[in-house]
Amino acid sequence: MSDRDARLDDLLPAVHRALFIGGAWREADDGARFDVLDPADGSVLTTVPDAGAGEAVEALDAAVAAQASWAATPPRERSDILRRAFDLLTARTDDVALLMSLEMGKPVAEAKGEVAYGADFLRWFSEEAVRIHGTWMSAPNGASRLLTMRKSVGPCLFVTPWNFPLAMGTRKIAPAIAAGCTMVVKPAAQTPLTMLYLAALLAEAGLPDGVLNIVTGLDAGAISAALQGDDRLRKISFTGSTGVGKVLVRQSADQLQRVSMELGGNAPFVVFEDADLDVAVEAAMVAKMRNMGEACTAANRFLVHESVAGAFAERLAARMGALVVGRGQDDGVQVGPLIDEKARESVAELVTDAVHDGARVVVGGEPLPGPGYFYPPTVLVDVPADSAITREEIFGPVAPITTFTTEDEAISRANDTEYGLASYVFTRDLARTIRVAERLEFGMVGVNTGLVSNAAAPFGGMKASGFGREGGFEGIEEYLETTYVALPV
Ligand code: NAP
Repeated sequence: MSDRDARLDDLLPAVHRALFIGGAWREADDGARFDVLDPADGSVLTTVPDAGAGEAVEALDAAVAAQASWAATPPRERSDILRRAFDLLTARTDDVALLMSLEMGKPVAEAKGEVAYGADFLRWFSEEAVRIHGTWMSAPNGASRLLTMRKSVGPCLFVTPWNFPLAMGTRKIAPAIAAGCTMVVKPAAQTPLTMLYLAALLAEAGLPDGVLNIVTGLDAGAISAALQGDDRLRKISFTGSTGVGKVLVRQSADQLQRVSMELGGNAPFVVFEDADLDVAVEAAMVAKMRNMGEACTAANRFLVHESVAGAFAERLAARMGALVVGRGQDDGVQVGPLIDEKARESVAELVTDAVHDGARVVVGGEPLPGPGYFYPPTVLVDVPADSAITREEIFGPVAPITTFTTEDEAISRANDTEYGLASYVFTRDLARTIRVAERLEFGMVGVNTGLVSNAAAPFGGMKASGFGREGGFEGIEEYLETTYVALPV
């Protein structure tokens, strides 16, 4: 038995590989199941139920049945459940990280980072659950008092991607629990195991039956269409590609569901001539290489002042070229495989096209031999500003570097994208920091840092990156309605 199989044998018995509906673990109606693969070699890890519209509606039935009593549950009880879940998840970091690494590919050390980040939403919203409050004011003419009260939105649908199998779930689930909403979650077909583990953990933490329901299935379109066509569903929150996001926004129209969309990105990483290059290179390693570049916040376009571009490229290439690529569960590995062959082909094609357009490869540049979907850390220089690699989301470990001359040029090129999620700026000039942050059309600006994600911060984008915020004080607002009560005196 291989080392991997031994670890799987230890881990899998603790994971319910079943639908979770109304507090019960069960199979799909027709017993169908689908494979969950290991992206490090394409082998089958295990199987989970292949549910469709019927089971999804049964999950919504359970969420609807639980909604009134959950919304009426004292905030302190909701808070305590989230806090217990935070403690349990933190205590089981090693198991969750290994499971996530196996189904998604990321190195175990990175997966542990995601467990800490994902768990932090449980803790943050356990603290927010008891701070939901309305307002009280006198009408301007003094004739009445105006009271506002906050109410939970009601049953929600959450659709999550494969790249952060835990954190993209807890960013939605934790505020919904805090606000008194019930929910149906459809995890990505490629990474359902982490979400199933989380569901069992939340049940263990005391979450009542029906508040959280999980439906795994290959026909995501059928699941979302059935649920969004049901007038009992009051909200959808989606994290994933802009194309699918647009479909879900359209589907929300008939029942006028509330919508939150966390979509794709095309983050500029702008290095001015006065930047501390040590800081910029260190941050580039995080902004580019976190999650093998498979992150919506990943630095996608490096815009570097012409006077420092050569030094920056050389230092970044040295660091990227030294990274250890391999199976995420092996000691010392820093870069795992991409999620599947299609993802790797798409990265390879963007690089080939950029080279065809005139870019030069400093390090990397060719897919690594299989099995598994490995692509090496790659740095490209002299990338033409209009090359596809600067316009499309790369979703892989490739850093295309282009140069600029003036601050105005840097800002207008940074904004020249349909997306508006994360951006990064490197400068030691405070006035420039303010000028640039004010003009960048992005939901998040990291200044002299390659990491913007924080459970206490409002994460989200503008333009084709979507709308709504997750985390921070804003995160719970997505799950609350306001009722105003007029009180004449
Ligand atoms: P994706 O193809 O859009 O899939 C995301 C989720 O949507 C999966 O669960 C998928 O199910 C489901 N889905 C696909 N078609 C659907 C439909 N018609 N109705 C309902 N659900 C449907 O995106 P991805 O490739 O997994 O994720 C990468 C994308 O997510 C990138 O663009 C990235 O930037 C974005 N992302 C954004 C954020 C953010 O916070 N803004 C965070 C992380 C990722 P299946 O797995 O079954 O196909």
